[in-house]
Amino acid sequence: MTSVPTLPLGTYKIPIIGIGTLAVTDGEALEKMLNAALEVGYRHFDTAFLYRNEHLIGKVLNKWFTSGKVKREDIFVTTKLPFDGTYPEGVEKFLKESLAALQLNYVDLYLVHFPVRIKPLNGKGLEAAEPLPTDHLGVWREMEKQVKAGRAKTIGVSNFNRRQVERLLKEAEIKPVCNQIELNVYLPQTQFVEFLQANGIIAVSYFSLGNPALKQQRIQSGFWPAGKPDVLADPTIKRIADKHNKTPAQILLKALVQRKIVVIPKSVTLSRIKENFQLFDFDLDAEDVEAIAGIAIGERARLGQFKPLQGHPEYPHPVLDG
Ligand code: NDP
Repeated sequence: MTSVPTLPLGTYKIPIIGIGTLAVTDGEALEKMLNAALEVGYRHFDTAFLYRNEHLIGKVLNKWFTSGKVKREDIFVTTKLPFDGTYPEGVEKFLKESLAALQLNYVDLYLVHFPVRIKPLNGKGLEAAEPLPTDHLGVWREMEKQVKAGRAKTIGVSNFNRRQVERLLKEAEIKPVCNQIELNVYLPQTQFVEFLQANGIIAVSYFSLGNPALKQQRIQSGFWPAGKPDVLADPTIKRIADKHNKTPAQILLKALVQRKIVVIPKSVTLSRIKENFQLFDFDLDAEDVEAIAGIAIGERARLGQFKPLQGHPEYPHPVLDG
């Protein structure tokens, strides 16, 4: 079994590659995907209360634990506090619900999913979101309590901008160890990542591959703006992939991993699950790194423009400082 390289998460460790699970809610598909990922060597699983699949992930992991094939301490599970739980009393309530669904006593990483609180969605889609004032520090104090209570080994944030992270760093007793953000070679957020890393915060990339399927679906429903370039089809990436005898997806992921950024590509396709994991038998050279830096287009590439939340005072994008 391949062992997965890790990055330090405070005094804990995070495998540099995990598998994302957004939009996989079909039990059979998710079970196949997780079984394949575990066989290939993935040990890091990214989910969220909002993904509505924690109970399915819990079922699969539990089978692996009881069969003795893996131990709990070999697995890294991240889940997230939903938008409508971003208030102090929401933290423990939602984390306990997530733990019950996951059949776990603790998660390895618990994230505040978004720096914005909204009214309860009551089963409706995010399109129905109604913003509410958000008490970041009050929420963070409750996040810290979850570490002390043993329900989360580490805590972090997601989709926070620099100002929001700085506020937490100033006030926190237990500092955030991670910021999970949209990051890929078109949207490299270089200065922001450097700021995070200089403060001991690991950047985790979502949409490392520009999520082709979700993008299409969301554009059709008017949720995301059309006309976003497709990073998987970029000619420079294709040229570098051919040079190394690798695929464009492997180059996109490796470009992040070489910057010490954690990647969590999602795939339900068995060949891609394997492909996305094969990142550690080659290196991008200086010329590749320079060419990749040259194709960045910044905010124009951002997919996660959640229109219903954009009027909220804590809406985090754009990140103006890189
Ligand atoms: P990704 O950029 O990982 O793209 C996933 C899509 O790419 C899927 O449609 C998949 O298709 C396809 N794909 C996967 N591997 C390959 C490959 N090798 N070649 C070509 N296509 C490929 O987007 P995600 O939205 O899934 O983001 C990753 C994870 O990040 C999520 O699953 C979730 O866990 C997390 N996330 C967090 C957010 C946050 O706010 N914190 C927001 C969004 C995501 P197929 O499955 O059909 O193979």
